[in-house]
Amino acid sequence: MEKICVAVRVRPSVSEEAFHGTLWKVEDNRVSLHRQDGTPISGLSYAFDHVFDETCSNDRVYDLLTKDIIHATIQGFNGTVFAYGQTSSGKTFTMNGSPTNPGVIPLAVKDIFEKIQMISDREFLIRVSYMEIYNEEINDLFAVENQKLQIHESLERGIFVSGLREEIVNNADQVLKFIESGEVNRHFGETNMNVRSSRSHTIFRMVIESKGRDTHDSSTDAIRVSVLNLVDLAGSERIAKTGADGVRLKEGKHINKSLMTLGNVINKLSDGAKQRGHIPYRDSKLTRILQPALGGNAKTSIICTIAPEEIHIEETKGTLQFASRAKRITNCAQVNEILTDAALLKRQKLEIEELRSKLQGSHAEVLEQEILKLRNDMLKYELEREKLELELEEERRSHKEREQHIMEQQMRIQSLSNLVTSSESRSSSQDSRRQSPEENVHDSLCHGDVFRTPTFKAAPNAFVAKRSNYSRLPDCSPLPDSFSNVADEDTWLKLNKGHITDLDSLLITPARKVQSLSSVDATPGCSKQSYQQEVQKLKRQLELVTEEKNEFQQKYTEQVQLNDQLTGEISELRQEVLQIQEIPRRLGESVASCKDFYEDVLSTMQSFEFDEKSSTTKVLSSTCEIWSSLFATLESHFSTATDDQKYIQENDSLVQENCKLLFERLKSTITAAVLSETSAVDTKQEKDLQCRCNHKEEEAPDWKETLRNDLDKINREYHCLKKEFDLGNELMEATKERYCSLEREFQLLKEERDSLLKEVAESSQKLALITDQKENVLKDLNSQVQRRKDLEEEIKQFSVAFGCRQKSLVSFHNELKSNIEKLRAQNPVQVPKTLGG
Ligand code: ADP
Ligand code: MG
Repeated sequence: MEKICVAVRVRPSVSEEAFHGTLWKVEDNRVSLHRQDGTPISGLSYAFDHVFDETCSNDRVYDLLTKDIIHATIQGFNGTVFAYGQTSSGKTFTMNGSPTNPGVIPLAVKDIFEKIQMISDREFLIRVSYMEIYNEEINDLFAVENQKLQIHESLERGIFVSGLREEIVNNADQVLKFIESGEVNRHFGETNMNVRSSRSHTIFRMVIESKGRDTHDSSTDAIRVSVLNLVDLAGSERIAKTGADGVRLKEGKHINKSLMTLGNVINKLSDGAKQRGHIPYRDSKLTRILQPALGGNAKTSIICTIAPEEIHIEETKGTLQFASRAKRITNCAQVNEILTDAALLKRQKLEIEELRSKLQGSHAEVLEQEILKLRNDMLKYELEREKLELELEEERRSHKEREQHIMEQQMRIQSLSNLVTSSESRSSSQDSRRQSPEENVHDSLCHGDVFRTPTFKAAPNAFVAKRSNYSRLPDCSPLPDSFSNVADEDTWLKLNKGHITDLDSLLITPARKVQSLSSVDATPGCSKQSYQQEVQKLKRQLELVTEEKNEFQQKYTEQVQLNDQLTGEISELRQEVLQIQEIPRRLGESVASCKDFYEDVLSTMQSFEFDEKSSTTKVLSSTCEIWSSLFATLESHFSTATDDQKYIQENDSLVQENCKLLFERLKSTITAAVLSETSAVDTKQEKDLQCRCNHKEEEAPDWKETLRNDLDKINREYHCLKKEFDLGNELMEATKERYCSLEREFQLLKEERDSLLKEVAESSQKLALITDQKENVLKDLNSQVQRRKDLEEEIKQFSVAFGCRQKSLVSFHNELKSNIEKLRAQNPVQVPKTLGG
């Protein structure tokens, strides 16, 4: 437990005038009020942790009061420094300073970055935010559009302002620039900046996260998260004015709410733990945000600034009393260590958010690029495929030629062998039986072993016979059964096992078309026609998808434009609504000033001496009553109006009724007064007549004169009052009319805003739908690409198979050649030169 550190700072006097009565003197840590002769006034001497006189610089204030707290925040403690005091006593000068005399905020920022530079074993992540509480509303000073933010509480983050922009920073200059831009935002659209700054609270906040650099041990891998609040409070002068008698809420009650609650919280906290009871932190935005700083987990120091001038003596006393109470508060600060990944996750989340927002910003471009890439890929595939098809075609042609060639070769070989056979038969005298070449072939065919290739090589005659037969079947493919008679073992084996090469060979063998047409048709990769159809289909689909994509893109751009436009309009409307919301408060103020004026008139009138029973007095008191009640109604009406616009409507009829009632009452009082006055005159005249009858000789013109004078006077006063009343009435009517028209305008704007909001919601729905559709299209496109890839794969396999087939043909051809060579060698007959290729 440690006490809040409290200091008082005296601003240099702004007037050159010498003190006439009393003056504040600073001695060590004490400030006391002295008479002109130098004697202290009892009961007005206060001691604090520090008292800074008018010569003290901001540097010194920083060193003595806040430096320790700032350093503690780097260690993981929460810290808060706030400046309290009446307007113009030097709060902003202390917190922000001037270019030549920087205040607590810039000094703290610089100090923090210097300090963390020196800490090499920890890594830091610093986020800053800057907010303003004005009229009990939290506004973001880093983002003007973030207005009326709400306070939330969570286990992970504690009490926080949701939607408040946090900027990750890594040097002091960056922070100071952010603060500067925040100040510019604060001035934005403000007509009377001084009024606003003296009525608003600003909170500059730094969140410091740190983590050991090289800790591999997860148990010591705790993350420290501390929050530093540097607060410049609103001028405290109204607390004294409204606190004690609590009569006037001329400034709008919200402005005082935060400060009043701060006073209450400090009072309660200073009562000591036992009497404390409920602490009303939740009664205002300021105290809720500063809750940890007041009687909680934070190191806190308060600097109370006072103005030394005699005219401010009451405010100064108030400030010193506040400071004395604050001095009694104790806090319990501890290092905030988080063992979970919450803080780190937060950082990662931020990064992801940033990336996501970047991605969202260029979503269309990303998609565009992706689609472009896909299109490029497809184009590439298309080209490759075409090239492959051409190659395939070429291969087929050359293959056909080769086959043709082989056939011719075979034919020649056959004719050659025939020749050989005939010459053999002719030359052999032992061979009694003459055989035709066909019969010879038939013999060879009947030889069972010959067909069991590859051993056929050992029986060249049989081979020739077999091939000769095979070559005679160019137009019809044999059925598997009959095929066994023709095909060599390898081919048959491959065929039966469904090897790719078989498909290949089937495709190339002319007879294949007859035999296995259906199976070929079923495989898209093997039929050129179906493949082309597939490609055409894909092309068409791609075109459709591209068209659709373009359409969506156009729609999306339109939506984005519409959205931007709507957002602009909404922000304009918001501004207008804000201005309109100000009106009841201003009206309240004018009623208050009207009341002031009226009270002046009343007191002047009351200064005339009237007889208690005279009708003028009655009229006056009745008018007074009526006006008071009228003002009370108006005041309460306008003060509630500032709270809630809806309430105005309900209250308006009430006010009108009240007015009617009051006018009736005033009328009847005046009539009664006039009547009683007339009757009094009549009675008097009657009495006079009687007197005259009774004492004919004693006529005194004096009383008549006096009576007439009296009557005139009363009449004049009555007219005066009536005029005044009429004037008031007119003013009232005008105010009412203005108010009604403003309200109508406000309603219209509200309706317009609602419809715009609806439109925005609809647009975003549409947008989401379009995005969905776009994603689906992309998916389709991807699947098409995948399909295309599969097809490509098939083509590749096909060409490999083709290659194999080609190879086998070449080897067959070579074999054939060698056989021919052998045959030639065995039968050296005259062969034309063209034979044998
Ligand atoms: P507040 O924020 O309390 O309303 P300011 O900080 O704006 O008051 O101070 C009012 C004026 O007094 C400013 O012009 C400021 O420069 C000056 N001032 C305040 N304190 C000092 C000081 N200690 N030394 C010099 N000038 C000061
Ligand atoms: Mg200020």
